[in-house]
Amino acid sequence: MIWEELQNELDALRRDGLQRRRRTLEAPCGPLAQVDGRPLISFCSNDYLGLANDPALIEAACAGARAWGVGSGASHLVSGHLAPHEALERQLATFTGFPRTLLFTTGYLANLGIVPALVGRGDAVFADKLNHASLIDAVQLSRADSRRYPHGDVAALERMLATSTAKRKLILTDAVFSMDGDLAPLPTLLALAERFNAWLVVDDAHGFGVLGAHGRGSLAHFELPHLSPSPRIVYMGTLGKAAGASGAFVAAHDSVIEWLLQRARTYVFTTGSSPLIACALSASLELIAAGDARRAQLRQLATQLRDGLAATRWRLLPSPTAIQPVIIGDNFEALRVAAALFERGLWVPAIRPPTVAKGTARLRVSLSAAHTTEQVAQLVNALRELA
Ligand code: PMP
Repeated sequence: MIWEELQNELDALRRDGLQRRRRTLEAPCGPLAQVDGRPLISFCSNDYLGLANDPALIEAACAGARAWGVGSGASHLVSGHLAPHEALERQLATFTGFPRTLLFTTGYLANLGIVPALVGRGDAVFADKLNHASLIDAVQLSRADSRRYPHGDVAALERMLATSTAKRKLILTDAVFSMDGDLAPLPTLLALAERFNAWLVVDDAHGFGVLGAHGRGSLAHFELPHLSPSPRIVYMGTLGKAAGASGAFVAAHDSVIEWLLQRARTYVFTTGSSPLIACALSASLELIAAGDARRAQLRQLATQLRDGLAATRWRLLPSPTAIQPVIIGDNFEALRVAAALFERGLWVPAIRPPTVAKGTARLRVSLSAAHTTEQVAQLVNALRELA
């Protein structure tokens, strides 16, 4: 019976320490969480600037709901593109410096839309091995030839590009790698894209709002031109992490955006997101642009954590971002450490294969500007004791 097969596979997951469980959060997203009635300090969320529960966003969402209702009622191309969506797209274009942007309902769907719209059979995608699952799935969906280069290895990428005879070439990368927190070498990738006449698709889920001047993201971090950026770059930013709400956008050359609007299936065939979310995001963008103090606090907390853990037997990764992984290695040990932290009122997720490579199970500490120095000190002390 098919469910017995599934049960056997579930039993195997449990035996290998790979079974996941979800916990129900009994408080709004923020550093102070509650699970099963127990207060916890959470280091789990991607709410890097602490905006998910910000009063200005809440107010904008409520006002948005009163003015525009809750549902958009249809896909964007039918009648689900409301004035708040249009205003947000324009605001995102001004903010990112790209000529035009397009909203998607999630980052996962944006990636699944972009890649198959740009490449297909006979084309090739050159992808970093540590790219996010949504980018890996997007390549499969596109039916383009998938070539994966070792993480950050631009020399390997260059060799692949030089020998490729594909019609269209597309370099595909996370800007900030979601489980490692390190950065892709974007200036070199752009130079290779120019030299080999390729697209460069950048997923900045974890850099948008956090890195670069005014939080404009990873391109700004590398000081790539802000106004009239390279027309080869297709930039994807998500709006459910630092921006504190949900959704995603693609920013690119006008023709690219028009093409995605016409042809990206995850844009065309899905209901537009709630207009109240667009209203909240407009408020969020203003806080992001004016958010230098939040970003400075985030950097300071990251330094505090890294300095505090430098002498433990667990390895840190070279991450200048809010994502600070502590590499433990063994699946069960990672689970034991996460459970021991949980007992001490500290909630940090243990990340195991297949999300990360075998033997590199880790604690993925996510910092937020809403954390305090005392909260990070508690985590550092507990981890030192456990190590
Ligand atoms: N890209 C990356 C690099 C991510 O980490 C994530 C989310 N974890 C996504 C895309 C998907 O974004 P969303 O959560 O908005 O679907």
